[in-house]
Amino acid sequence: MSFTLAIVGRPNVGKSTLFNRLVGKKLALVDDQPGVTRDLREGDAKLGHLRFTVIDTAGLEEATDDSLQGRMRRLTERAVDMADVCLFMVDARTGITPTDEMFAEILRKRADKVILAANKAEGKVADAGVIEAYSLGLGEPLRLSGEHGEGMGELMHILQPIADEF
Ligand code: GDP
Ligand code: MG
Repeated sequence: MSFTLAIVGRPNVGKSTLFNRLVGKKLALVDDQPGVTRDLREGDAKLGHLRFTVIDTAGLEEATDDSLQGRMRRLTERAVDMADVCLFMVDARTGITPTDEMFAEILRKRADKVILAANKAEGKVADAGVIEAYSLGLGEPLRLSGEHGEGMGELMHILQPIADEF
């Protein structure tokens, strides 16, 4: 038995980049244009000695109207319900946005276990955004750089007790 991790968060924070790193294949579409794909993607993740299922919530277009906002919410809720643990990703370079706060609200209500990850955290320019992430009320943010592979050891450390439960 293994566990399932869902990577959730608003468009363009780096979810698919981390998914690709964990799965080791270019299964998820990474693009500078957010919201190119429109579904949930599942892959077999490998992180050190840990093996688990990872879900990437793709297709979360910028919430420019109610239907997109609704779609983003429904897709995230589906991923949360499939997962044993959620990695809620925010962008440490842009800081916390109202959409991040909407996601935090969904996760507080619906998810059993949440790992808050402040991504794009390579370099000092991200320090303020990492600190700001505390305001989401989801505990200490994990400093992560999915693109550069920073914070992966810490992530493994956090996931270990969850792996031990399964
Ligand atoms: P998603 O929409 O949340 O799936 O985000 P993507 O994985 O498609 O990434 C969106 C953009 O952020 C792309 O241009 C990535 O190259 C960039 N990105 C992803 N991870 C990092 C990171 O750790 N650091 C930096 N600086 N950029 C990143
Ligand atoms: Mg994506």
